[in-house]
Amino acid sequence: MAKNTKNNKKKKLHPEFEREIPSTIRYDIEEAVDQTRKTGREHSLTFCTIKGKDRGKVFTADGVKGDKDSTSIADCSKTGGNKVGDLHTHPADDISIGTTPSEADFYGTLEDTRDIGKRQFSCITNNGSKFIHCYTPKGIPNRTKLQKYRKALYNTGDLNDVDPYFRDSIHKDFEHVYYDRKTYKRVSPDPGDIVTDAFGKSKRLRGRDLKAIEKGTFCDLIQDYTAPGNNRVGSECRDRLQKRTFLPFTSAQIQELKKIHRYFFT
Ligand SMILES: [Zn+2]
Repeated sequence: MAKNTKNNKKKKLHPEFEREIPSTIRYDIEEAVDQTRKTGREHSLTFCTIKGKDRGKVFTADGVKGDKDSTSIADCSKTGGNKVGDLHTHPADDISIGTTPSEADFYGTLEDTRDIGKRQFSCITNNGSKFIHCYTPKGIPNRTKLQKYRKALYNTGDLNDVDPYFRDSIHKDFEHVYYDRKTYKRVSPDPGDIVTDAFGKSKRLRGRDLKAIEKGTFCDLIQDYTAPGNNRVGSECRDRLQKRTFLPFTSAQIQELKKIHRYFFT
């Protein structure tokens, strides 16, 4: 795909996020995480620049309380600045797996990137995760690309397999950045820690995850959605899948897995 090559070089992040999570938004992140811990609901924050003397610095617009598996994201009208990114929590027992972005998450970031004309910086975390996992498009998507993603998102339901467009494109179109949740410093995590956060404490698997396990592509997706190009993440995921230690399957899921993937459990 020659079309993508010009976007493959690493571009600079927003300067406020280059080395750490800016101190101006840390308190709000902790609040969001705490709300989610207490309520089990998603919570989102919008990162905005502001008009006036603090121009360039990043602040948060009002947080939005979401429901159990989705949340909308507020705009920056209150600060009078521009949206530079956003953060949302994934409740520890969400149907979302840990801090792995969903296809809708990736799409939302791409759509905002095109609407605003600046690469948006999106982050996910929760009270059980070691990192704040952030991802940003490598470039501003053209309309065709956005349409392809929208169509692929529409085809990716809970019971559907993940649309091939996501499998072919996400790893090329996004870069991922991690920050330590305690120090807020940018870090290069071990593959094992990435996989631990990617799975989180999720106790449920979606139908499509079972299908991906059946096809042997589950760990490719986990790698593409968390640390593209880092094959050690994929192999760590496969190791845990084989040892059955990565998710506490429910007995119904084990029955299902036995049907589709006998050798895991015999
Ligand atoms: Zn999400």
